[in-house]
Amino acid sequence: MKLNAAGQSRLATTGRQNHDDPGLTLAYVQLVTVYRIRGYALPSGESTDIYADGDRWTTDPVPGAELVAEGWLLPGLADMHTHPGAGSPGEPFTDSLLRKDLDKHVDAGVTVIRAPGLAGEPPGWFGVDPDTPRAFHAGPWIAQFGQFFDGWGRRANHAEMPAIAAAQAARTGWAKIIADWGPDDEPVPETVLRDIVTAVHEAGGRIAVHSQQAAGGTAAVAAGVDSLEHGMCLDPELLAQMAAQGTALTPTLTVITGSLELARLREDSPRKEWYVGGASAHPALVAAAAEAGVTLLAGTDSRPHGTIAAEIRALAAAGVPADVALGAASWTARDYLGIPGLVDGAPADAVVYDSDPRADLSVLDKPRAVILRGHPARRRKR
Ligand SMILES: [Zn+2]
Repeated sequence: MKLNAAGQSRLATTGRQNHDDPGLTLAYVQLVTVYRIRGYALPSGESTDIYADGDRWTTDPVPGAELVAEGWLLPGLADMHTHPGAGSPGEPFTDSLLRKDLDKHVDAGVTVIRAPGLAGEPPGWFGVDPDTPRAFHAGPWIAQFGQFFDGWGRRANHAEMPAIAAAQAARTGWAKIIADWGPDDEPVPETVLRDIVTAVHEAGGRIAVHSQQAAGGTAAVAAGVDSLEHGMCLDPELLAQMAAQGTALTPTLTVITGSLELARLREDSPRKEWYVGGASAHPALVAAAAEAGVTLLAGTDSRPHGTIAAEIRALAAAGVPADVALGAASWTARDYLGIPGLVDGAPADAVVYDSDPRADLSVLDKPRAVILRGHPARRRKR
């Protein structure tokens, strides 16, 4: 039984039979604060007044609910490509670092993450702890022998990959394949990627594929993978096919272009030519992907954590419309994960800003409040 109560609380009363005396019912009364946010909800911009009834939004007014913040409301930010819990590539996974990394995501307004690859098995609280973001993950990366970072992920031959990926996707909903690695490495063949896609989909999951080589990207798109991660060096001619078949692109733009200056200083080599060429072309590729109607997802990939605002601004600077760039890190990303936004019955996440972030993306650095699972996880004091 739930009763609306005067003041700031809702009374939640639960009854339990007393086994010694079945006639006696013990009542446990718990006071639960109901939180409220108000303002203009994106993407529609409609005036919205919404209440967190536990971990669900409701537009039914709750008398005495505490108004946490007013302003421009988003259903929280999403970092769709992040690997919390481990340091530099190859370093081990620890629960304490995982919590620190996730705290930084929440500071940035992130209420859901997707980890396409983790350095270890996450603890039971990952994705459900009330003070950390919701989480989707693909377990350890699956790579070919001799490729990817030493110490991270698992290696498999081509024949084993579909079953390993399907088993992972059955466990956590996602699997992640490293389709290509260095410029001299052979990518996973298209036929193998097709078998992986079939096996993962039969298991009811989705497959994310790392690609930074033209051949690997071509094979991944032909195989119909669910999301292409990075997509550096992808043939722009394939963007229309991606849009048509629903292959999303997570371009990780800041991390790819962030290494460009250093790469330009290196001695000439095929490796330098590959990286400088691919990274230089990446912003234009991302803008073309948005133009072609490809679902863009924002992801930060590397450390430090909590930098999703910079990725949104990088997408916009590349030529992606501001609302599309924001959606890639919020409502579009949540929709892709099957989580509705600021509507009745949706999981109660939000981030509130003082002004419209579509007009000025710098406001993303100063969230007024972050609501996570129906409670204020962060509140800015003035
Ligand atoms: Zn990554």
